[in-house]
Amino acid sequence: MPGATRPVGGPQLAQIRRVVSEIPGPRSRELLARQRTLVPAGVGATLPVFVEAAGGGVIVDADGNSFIDFGSGIAVTTVGNSAPAVAGRAAAQLSRFTHTCFLVNPYESYLDVCEKLNTLAPIRGDKRTILVNSGAEAVENAVKIARAATGRPGIVVFDHAFHGRTLLTMTLTAKNKPYKQGFGPFAPEVHRAPMAYPYRWPTGPENCAEEAAQALVDLLDRQVGAENVAAVLMEPIQGEGGFVVPAPGFLKQVAAICRDRGILLIMDEVQAGMARTGRMFACEHEGVQPDLITTAKGLAGGLPLGAVTGRAELMDAVPAGGLGGTYSGNPVACEAALGVFEEIEEHDLLERAREIGDTMLEHLSALADTHEVIGDVRGRGAMVAVELVERHGDRVPAPDLTARIARRCHENGLLVLTAGSYGNVLRFLPPLSIPDALLEEGLAILSEAVAQEAAATG
Ligand SMILES: *Cc1c(COP(=O)(O)O)cnc(C)c1O
Repeated sequence: MPGATRPVGGPQLAQIRRVVSEIPGPRSRELLARQRTLVPAGVGATLPVFVEAAGGGVIVDADGNSFIDFGSGIAVTTVGNSAPAVAGRAAAQLSRFTHTCFLVNPYESYLDVCEKLNTLAPIRGDKRTILVNSGAEAVENAVKIARAATGRPGIVVFDHAFHGRTLLTMTLTAKNKPYKQGFGPFAPEVHRAPMAYPYRWPTGPENCAEEAAQALVDLLDRQVGAENVAAVLMEPIQGEGGFVVPAPGFLKQVAAICRDRGILLIMDEVQAGMARTGRMFACEHEGVQPDLITTAKGLAGGLPLGAVTGRAELMDAVPAGGLGGTYSGNPVACEAALGVFEEIEEHDLLERAREIGDTMLEHLSALADTHEVIGDVRGRGAMVAVELVERHGDRVPAPDLTARIARRCHENGLLVLTAGSYGNVLRFLPPLSIPDALLEEGLAILSEAVAQEAAATG
């Protein structure tokens, strides 16, 4: 049997960092060459080492390297890449049935996932949930529902936002390259407001929330007309945009502005939700209750699943047949999601996310004190980032330095991801199953990489 000697994930996987080849190693290079002949160039790779097994806090590649994982497959494997409850439930479901199509023959696990989300989502009153396949699909559906419920066409989004790669969601996304360039014409009725981005607010962080709220009001009332706007769509903490934590109070102000105008508030929790920040939903940190919430990434531990949860009267505004999809709410993915909820509850992963966040923020703040290239340290729970600049105070983005630090981390067995509108953010999203020793070791590797690259820059 060809796979018999391959490593397995789960609790058996050795929780160690090990670099035994150049990165990527010979086997991965071979496979990457093969990828180039089979897969279009538009599909990029941050760290092209081909994975054999992953779990706890490590990713093991085809050359036998074991990387400390600070990426979680982009905030997906929050409970780990091979968490027992997820793998066990999904495997059991595979042997029962793989698919019937929920629109043809429903099954109970779909309802169990919806019940969980309806119970946990910080939304007032009666709630309903629809399951879909991805984050982009969740956002698309939230927009459809908001338009159907309000009879209005307009959607307002923010600068630095990321909402997906489909035609509508790339339109909702702020950054041109690489997400939008060449892919137009874009969807109509999308309007963009400035984000309350404290580090980069022109008049300083103390004025940020108030002035950004004023700009939103101006856009709604003067430029678009509030009566033409179905929803304001925002990430509670921006993901791809660079882990921008909106200025304190801004979310609350946005919610109030929407409420006053009969505009719905959609919170895109695809990246920040599902225990990542130390709360089940990141908007809970700001005490905000949106009308609709989208989830995906962390929802099913790596199996494709997304969801829209919202107030029942809005969700029910779409007649039967208007929502759904062939694979939406696949039974294996639903079981995986139930496994995710079990893991979060059993291992108190909300507390674990806060602990990891405290460790990272303390370490990174100390690092920022000694290296002026670290302009900002921010985040919540296990969703933390540093923004790199030329010099402290000048705020000039340093994307090349950022890329060099990331590469040095990769060469030393630490997987980190970059982000940010200016490509100058290193983001850290360890799985909550990472052992403390690996977390500390990863932070030490990062510090060394920053020190070496900052010195090389002069
Ligand atoms: C990743 C992401 C999406 C898109 O999710 P996909 O599953 O990649 O389609 C949407 N919104 C946010 C905030 C995201 O981070």
